[in-house]
Order: sequence, then structure tokens, then C-alpha cells
Amino acid sequence: TSNLGYGPAEKGILIVLSGPSGVGKGTVCKELRRCAPDIVYSVSATTRPPRAGEVDGVNYFFKTREQFQQLIDQDQMLEWAEYVGNYYGTPRKFVEDTLNSGKDIILEIEVQGALKVKQKFPEGVFIFLLPPSLNELESRIVGRGTESEDSIRSRLSVALDEIALIEHYDYAIINDQVELACSRIRSILTAEHCRKARM
Ligand code: 5GP
Repeated sequence: TSNLGYGPAEKGILIVLSGPSGVGKGTVCKELRRCAPDIVYSVSATTRPPRAGEVDGVNYFFKTREQFQQLIDQDQMLEWAEYVGNYYGTPRKFVEDTLNSGKDIILEIEVQGALKVKQKFPEGVFIFLLPPSLNELESRIVGRGTESEDSIRSRLSVALDEIALIEHYDYAIINDQVELACSRIRSILTAEHCRKARM
């Protein structure tokens, strides 16, 4: 139901940025923070150990399996998924509070989690980030230098399964250049704010 008040939309827009590991979601999000500072970022919880330079509460909330399970049991997760042996999830309250305050929020999450969010927030904007090619994806995962050979293989095979689910998304963006990818996302958001149904 639209209120056609011509005022600012009451609620913010939930944006889900998803796509295979190594496609550059993190890099695009970092650039978005610079070029679209009004978008709020959701910080996920994970049981994966921190990489060098990652800070608790900034990149992730780093949790033990027991702590993570407790968050699930207490219904504090909007969604969660197991990915290459670790749990990842989106704390629910921060997302809901941000949307209620009228601000847009972006979730950078893998595909299974994105599909769960879509069930709860069908009005969200679901964007799939694609690599320029599969060869390029492999060299990005290898080049990051943070993953073991096993983890690289798992991430690549998961990536193929993930790309197969692209049909559930509203938009697809090829991450050929990070600045271009960001300006495409900003254009999508501008268009979504102009939808009559949101006014
Ligand atoms: P990484 O270990 O490289 O930081 O993340 C691995 C994958 O987990 C990435 O595809 C990333 O987008 C995804 N991810 C990060 N946070 C969440 C989350 O809260 N929920 C889900 N479902 N996936 C997440």
C-alpha cells in the first residue's frame, strides 16, 4: 500500500549485495562507503577467525560456535548460513532499527542468506555482482593470498552453484571496474527511491 504523501519514504530501502566469493563484494562495499556515505552498512557475525587487519565490530562480530548458536536460538539473526565450514549471519535488530529510522542499509552476504532475506523482505532490492569471467574469479580468489588450496577449491565450486541462483535477483552488475560498479548501484538506488509504490 502506498501513502502517496510525496514526502520522503517512511522506511529505508534494504539492499542485498550478493555474489560469489572473490567477485569483489568487499571492495565494492568499501568504495560505496566513500562514494555513497548515506548508505548504512550491516556488520555480520561469523565464526570464521579474523584475517590480518580485520577488526571485531568493524569487519565482523567474531563469535565462537557456541555464541553464534545462542544468537540463533534467541532469534537475533535476520538470516544465517553455513559457508565453507563457518557460520555467517546478519544481526536482526540493527537492520530493523536502521530501516525504521528511514535510512537505507546494505547487506553484503552470500546467496543462501540472500534468498532467506528475500522471504522476509520481498520489497528489498537484490543485486547480484558478477565477475567479468570465471577465470578472473579464480585468479582473484588465488591472488587474495588469504585462502588455503582446499578453501580456494571449495570457494570456486560454491561460486558456480551461487551463480546458478542469479534468477532470484532484481539486478545483475558486472564488477569490471569498482567505480563503475558503484555508480551502477547508486543509479539503481536512485531509481528504487522513485518507485511510485514507495512514495
Ligand atoms: P569471507 O569469509 O570472505 O569474509 O566471507 C565469505 C562469504 O560469506 C562471502 O560471500 C560473504 O559475502 C558472506 N557473508 C558475510 N557476512 C554474511 C552474513 O551475515 N550472512 C551470510 N549469509 N553471508 C555472509
